[in-house]
Amino acid sequence: MLLSKQKHKQKRALTLLRELHQLWLARRSLPSVPLEEPIQRGYKRSYKFKSGILPYRSDAQALIAILNRINVTNYSPDGSFKEKRHWKSKMWVDIKQQPRPIYEHRWPFPKEYKEKYFDASYPGKFCWKCFEFSKHMHYHFRFEHYLEFNVEPNMLTHYTDADPYIETRIKEIENKMEAEQLWSIINRAKGSHHRDRDLKRKYPVRDQRRKESVDEQIHEPDDV
Ligand SMILES: [Zn+2]
Repeated sequence: MLLSKQKHKQKRALTLLRELHQLWLARRSLPSVPLEEPIQRGYKRSYKFKSGILPYRSDAQALIAILNRINVTNYSPDGSFKEKRHWKSKMWVDIKQQPRPIYEHRWPFPKEYKEKYFDASYPGKFCWKCFEFSKHMHYHFRFEHYLEFNVEPNMLTHYTDADPYIETRIKEIENKMEAEQLWSIINRAKGSHHRDRDLKRKYPVRDQRRKESVDEQIHEPDDV
């Protein structure tokens, strides 16, 4: 079968990408070795219940289970928990952190918890916690004022030795992809471009209208 130059390039790009995926998987499954003494690497911040809440409640077990499900951990090298607003920017802003919402199709608790501990967010309605129109039914923990930040040193207890073959091969493939601009070919082959996606998000109505007009043109009856 004869392939065009473009198709050849596409095939090569996808083969390389497949190999890259395999290498990433291999790197992740390397065995980790326990350290003799733990090393501190920056700080981590998560949620805990304020002192004086759990001892007085009969449903402490349920609250702990909920916290385990909605808890979020952030890391910071110097403990300031600030990040750049944009990679070029010089402005440092606080890292946003809020408990994770739970989606309807992944509901892990008994049904009665929904009314007892959570506020529902309906699709199509504005969610003030996520600050956007919600696409899917989800629930936010109602008693966020029970929670507070818990900052502690982030201790590493294990380490993984890098495999020289895997590392060099990954670098090789990445350099090839960069040099021959294969990433853009892969994106085009997958049929999505960030520009198209953003436009669709921005002008859903206009897009719909354009599609309808195209449909009309296709199905226009011939009046001869
Ligand atoms: Zn929400």
